[in-house]
Amino acid sequence: MAGSTIKDCDVLISECGPRDGLQILRAIMPTQAKCRWIAALHAAGLREIEVCSFVPAKLMPQMADAAEVVRFARTLPGLTVLALVPNLRGAEAALKAGATKLTIPVSGSEGHSLANVRKSRAEMVEEVGRIVALRDAIAPDVPVEANISVAFGCTIDGHVDEDEVIALAAKLVGVGVDDSGLSDTTGMANPAQVRRMFGRLIDRIGARCGAAHMHNTRGLGLANCLAAYEAGVRIFDSSHAGLGGCPHAPGASGNVVTEDLVFMFEAMGIRTGVDASQLIAARASLAEALPGVDLYGMLAGAGLPLNFPYPHPDPRV
Ligand code: ZN
Repeated sequence: MAGSTIKDCDVLISECGPRDGLQILRAIMPTQAKCRWIAALHAAGLREIEVCSFVPAKLMPQMADAAEVVRFARTLPGLTVLALVPNLRGAEAALKAGATKLTIPVSGSEGHSLANVRKSRAEMVEEVGRIVALRDAIAPDVPVEANISVAFGCTIDGHVDEDEVIALAAKLVGVGVDDSGLSDTTGMANPAQVRRMFGRLIDRIGARCGAAHMHNTRGLGLANCLAAYEAGVRIFDSSHAGLGGCPHAPGASGNVVTEDLVFMFEAMGIRTGVDASQLIAARASLAEALPGVDLYGMLAGAGLPLNFPYPHPDPRV
């Protein structure tokens, strides 16, 4: 079993809506609304939330209040306050603000890497090494993860070589990251590929295998999460109401919907620690804060089934 899980849970759901969800919207959510949203997600039981990214405000004005949002999130008990950092400068700012975990995206394809961060993959591995050194020096308790974007296919380079992706993850572990996962940034993955690649990743880096970050662009998000679970993955990124995408992957809107993912796992007897009904209820205030923005998800429309949560035998026995 790869990855760390929260006590009394079988999987860790890492909510990425406030970062992945908001970064591609033209609308800027006011800081107060972001904080209310994050508090509602925490109240529903989520214990890791990617609250922002530390990028220049002129490139991404949606994230200009990153430090303020981190400071608020730090007041929520038991919450891992995850911040995305694309480079050393971002990592310095995130650590200064008090982020308790850093996530660094590293592109699996050369074309996406150059478009997204204007660095080659090899240069990014060096940058990740510098971020790890900074962490070691000033915040040794802060875990650093590096997830490989476009790991299953790229809108710029097309096919992404599996051997190169696995080798890249091993290099990232080699420079000291705590874990490395695989992201389907462009929504191109299929379950057979997900099962194969995470199986290979776990063979290569074992417990350093990090999150499955799946998008629902082509409707396979949940199937891909299940395939990753069956391969041994225990950390899953998802987004409340399925907000999200990638500015360099046109049309790649929609992370896996947290509500639907929680329902799938809980219905199977796999404990998430998250209350799906509270997530559904929290959609109303999200809709109010983001007028005109589409919210996704199947569970919210249908509602929870009668007698949910079902009585289950312990799935681990
Ligand atoms: Zn994403």
